[in-house]
This record gives sequence, C-alpha cells and structure tokens, in this order.
Amino acid sequence: MEHSIISCTRKIHFCAGHRVMGHESKCATPHGHNYYAHFFAEAEKLDELGRVIDFSSIKEKLGGWIDRYWDHTFLVCDRDIETINAMKNVPGNKELFICPFNPTAENMAAYLLDVIAPKQLEGTGVYISKVILYETDNCYATAIRKI
Ligand SMILES: [Zn+2]
Repeated sequence: MEHSIISCTRKIHFCAGHRVMGHESKCATPHGHNYYAHFFAEAEKLDELGRVIDFSSIKEKLGGWIDRYWDHTFLVCDRDIETINAMKNVPGNKELFICPFNPTAENMAAYLLDVIAPKQLEGTGVYISKVILYETDNCYATAIRKI
C-alpha cells in the first residue's frame, strides 16, 4: 500500500458557452457545452478514515467555484474584444467570464489545475494531480500536474 499512489476523483458538471477565438470552422461561433470536469485528488497520506479527501469537499471547494464563475456563463478570451462588447449587452444574472486564455478545453483544464485548484484547496494538504475536461462525450482534454 505504501508504494501505491492513491487518488480519488470527483466529477463536476456545468453548462457554459464559449467561442474559440481564431478557430478555423464552427467553434469560432458562440456555442455551448455540457462540460464534465474530473478532478483527481491526491495527498501525502490518507486520512484516519482512509480517504484522500471527502468527495463532498471536492464538490464544495471546486464545484462551488465552477458553479459561481463558469456554470451558466459564457467564457471569452480577454483579447476577443468584439465578443466581449457584444456579450456585455446580453441580459442575464451572471457575468461573462473573461479568460486570460483562449477558452479551449485544454486551456480550461490547465486553468482549473494550475490556478483554481491550488487556491481552493489551500490548507487541506490535498492537491489535484490531474484534470480531465469533457467538452462532449467524445472529446476531452487532460491537464497533468508536473512534479
Ligand atoms: Zn465548443
């Protein structure tokens, strides 16, 4: 057991729109997906109950962030001024999410892994080793933590 790497995984669903700036075909048009983010959590050792972290804690800490900032929002690149200006005038009760990256599944997975997970899990002793982000049933991107 002590030579094994144990992870636990929580799947988080959210709905969001995006536009892939510079895309050669249909993804340049604003559209949306039912995304599924799979968070793989690891810790130096399991807790006294034998867990990496309680599944509900991942849901609360990472799912909570996604609910607030990405679910039922529109992700747009900070350089995509035309789309930002157009979407600003669309009514709704959530803000656009202006990304410091083009919102591809790859960049979104990397942002969750490198920026959001460390912040949301700070002080828990748990880290996210991998994020898999499904954009459709057949298409997903994987971000893996460098050691
Ligand atoms: Zn898309």
